[in-house]
Amino acid sequence: MTETTFSGNRGLQLEEPLIFEIGCAGRSGVDLPAVPPVTADRLGGCARKAATGLPDLSEPQVVRHYTRLSQKNYGIDSGFYPLGSCTMKHNPRLGEKMARLPGFADLHPLAPASTIQGALEVIDTLAHWLTTLTGLPAVAMSPAAGAHGEWCGLMAIRAYFEDKGQGHRRRVLVPESAHGTNPASAALCGMTVDPIPATEAGRVDLAALKAKLGDDVACLMLTNPNTCGLFEIEVLEIAQAVHAAGAFFYCDGANFNAVVGRVRVADLGVDAMHINLHKTFATPHGGGGPGAGPTVLSAALAPYAPLPRVVTAENGQRMLAEHDRDLPGELPFGRVKAFHGQFGVMVRALAYVLGMGGDGLAAASGDAVLNANYLLARLGDALSASFDGPCMHECLFDDRFLAGTGVSTLDFAKALIDEGYHPMTMYFPLVVHGALLMEPTESESKETLDQFIGVVRALAARAKTGDAEPFKQAPRLTPRRRLDETLAARTPVLRWKAGS
Ligand SMILES: *Cc1c(COP(=O)(O)O)cnc(C)c1O
Repeated sequence: MTETTFSGNRGLQLEEPLIFEIGCAGRSGVDLPAVPPVTADRLGGCARKAATGLPDLSEPQVVRHYTRLSQKNYGIDSGFYPLGSCTMKHNPRLGEKMARLPGFADLHPLAPASTIQGALEVIDTLAHWLTTLTGLPAVAMSPAAGAHGEWCGLMAIRAYFEDKGQGHRRRVLVPESAHGTNPASAALCGMTVDPIPATEAGRVDLAALKAKLGDDVACLMLTNPNTCGLFEIEVLEIAQAVHAAGAFFYCDGANFNAVVGRVRVADLGVDAMHINLHKTFATPHGGGGPGAGPTVLSAALAPYAPLPRVVTAENGQRMLAEHDRDLPGELPFGRVKAFHGQFGVMVRALAYVLGMGGDGLAAASGDAVLNANYLLARLGDALSASFDGPCMHECLFDDRFLAGTGVSTLDFAKALIDEGYHPMTMYFPLVVHGALLMEPTESESKETLDQFIGVVRALAARAKTGDAEPFKQAPRLTPRRRLDETLAARTPVLRWKAGS
């Protein structure tokens, strides 16, 4: 059970009230001169009538409060973070340094193009590397996240079919193992979602896919490697069947880290794919952002890419094309983001690509796959691996090893928190029961992986003794224990009110 203390604090973790609940009236961290007696009111009657409700605090109180909050955050800089599908990799400090250069960080998005040629060159150069690495000729740089990039790709596909008089193509085939954003993006742009079952081997059932193809299908959305961490070995046949039916092959590129520098997705028959810059190309993420999801497009889809786009004028000046009239013969479907996209993330991604080089990127994807296979090999007999054979950049286990123990995947993950590890992804993908999906990424050392393996094996051994209680009690050492996550998500309390 949890040990109690007189103070409510635990070790040097302090029990923290909300900032609105500390301080006292009249206390202040600043010393402002008194308001001159005759100040004409220039607020036109908009002056605040009641107090702001902000707490009265001294500077040390503010500093301590926010420093303590920052210490409650767990991030990739704090420790191992094997969250499957999310590619939580080290963010080289070089990228941070570049993004903070005043010439980038202080740019105003409305600055005239003639004054931001360097920034436009960054966008353009990154676009060059993304098209080179994927083999696809065009890229829409402005989507702000993976899901946003999916939606952007589907909108381009929709615009293509409408332009070609085939607007009835609105059915999207989505494998059962897909990330939830895939069907959500399809639904959001007015498509219907048709699921494709997985085979026993965790891959797309090609016969079932073929049976679902028809002249109302807009595209297949496939992740490769898929969310079971497996390469879709029949991907060429899949692409051929989809194209023969007159549909497009959309690839969810969130797992690009497994193949970057080694596989050009255009060679697999892919027509469109978003790239999570914040996964494959090292940007701090988690907690909802920031990210960026540029979407690479085939020659057929390129004319429908959203605005704005960086184009080079005859005199060599780079400009942002904002209107159809700037782009003769092209039919952009619209705009997806204010201004030009997540520029700071693009700077980091370009720094990463140039810092790594082509050989470095290929080494990173190789090491990511090696690390995942090391976990799979060392944990295979303690947990239950869902599929036979090696994996790509992430390894999938299910809850068969917990059968009869009374311990669930959730309990197991909570116990890992007490041991100092951010849990793996749980209960996703949905194609196996009680999934535990681990993605170590290339940036972890063998020592880190060995420590983690030791802990996971010890926990698995404890669970198998039938002593479920410590798991049910976990986490015991965190500032908060099991929260009602459903209630928090469905009924979030986003504003503090006095007396609440
Ligand atoms: C992360 C992820 C997405 C969505 O990307 P966001 O940037 O979170 O919107 C889509 N598909 C897969 C497989 C992912 O892992």
